[in-house]
Amino acid sequence: MMNSVPSLEKGHKYHIFISYSSGDSIWVSGLVNKLENTLPNLKICYHERDFIPGKTIIDNMVECIQSSQKTVMVLSPDFVRSGWCLFEAKLSIFQDCMLHKAIVPIMLRPCPIPLQLSHLTYLEADDEQFFEKLCDVLLGNNDEMVHSTALVHYQPSLLYNGKNILTLPAVNEESENWQPGMYSCAYVPDPLKVVLEDTKVYKEVMENINDIPVTRSCLRFTTCRVLLCMIIVLLFITFALFCGVLFAMNFAHFWGILIYSPFAMVLVLLLTVLINILCWSSRHNKRMMQRMVQKTCQANLILSKYSVLAGCSSRTQLFFVYVSLLHCKETVLNTFGHDSKVAGEMWERSISNYSSDYACCLAKNHFPFTSVPFPGHTEERICFCQYISMQLAAGS
Ligand SMILES: [Zn+2]
Repeated sequence: MMNSVPSLEKGHKYHIFISYSSGDSIWVSGLVNKLENTLPNLKICYHERDFIPGKTIIDNMVECIQSSQKTVMVLSPDFVRSGWCLFEAKLSIFQDCMLHKAIVPIMLRPCPIPLQLSHLTYLEADDEQFFEKLCDVLLGNNDEMVHSTALVHYQPSLLYNGKNILTLPAVNEESENWQPGMYSCAYVPDPLKVVLEDTKVYKEVMENINDIPVTRSCLRFTTCRVLLCMIIVLLFITFALFCGVLFAMNFAHFWGILIYSPFAMVLVLLLTVLINILCWSSRHNKRMMQRMVQKTCQANLILSKYSVLAGCSSRTQLFFVYVSLLHCKETVLNTFGHDSKVAGEMWERSISNYSSDYACCLAKNHFPFTSVPFPGHTEERICFCQYISMQLAAGS
């Protein structure tokens, strides 16, 4: 059921101001008609009808935005190209910050969203329930818009080298930390579909990444934890007895040495066992991370064919970065003789050793070195062959 149109707040002449490019005026006038027929009390301002002749466009615009409660922006390639529209966008963002006004972007035709609007959520014009959702948002309270489910988060359609397209959490994120992260293989996550559509390939890749043997640890079993506690208690008792004997024999006595030496041996033994058990966890975590990185690198042998690299920098998170390695591969192959078997092997080895760390650096936009002395193949980012050379030079 449609909500009733709320009365205008003080100082406002309109409920909404619609900002759009003249290229979309037919669609906009259709929308305005439909809105006005459905919600007869809704006051809409749009420039083809409501701009006052004789006033400059800017004056008209400022006045209309100021006297409207919400600003609707109709996004399309025309909107983005048009300087006037961009100015309007800037103006209402300004307004938004100053007076907490609401902006409702509508994606009419796919286009790169102006930077000023990229933090906003938007409505999709081709959504089956677009009109109902729009009415809900327009009639809703400005403060509630932030939580509205009608608006979807903007996902930039533009791909560029080094773009982190997906950060995938492990399904067993909450599990105990000696278990390696496991990832769902069932379907390709939406953001990744842009570059990798084949579910079979995705499944193969993820099964490979998931295939990490879980190291058995005595700490996994309750009896062993009880045993550990008993060792600690024994350690304290031995230590206490050791001190007691030391004290009673007053150091110098010959018999004292004979009695307290077994205590000292037990003490050392228990201490060694305790330190070993406590270090197991950090040793195990290090080994597990190494295995996970190795598996991710192997998966990258497949993923790199789709201009995607996966990166593993923690137990429960995988990055998927869009990056084309075409030119870097060419460079490596040329270095080792294009047709030789060695060249191919060197390329595979580069992927197997460095691709996961490289993907993590791209995803975080942070590299362990700041300046690279020679030109690369990736605009504004360090390319893969640059990365390998720098790592080899650093001796890792
Ligand atoms: Zn390169």
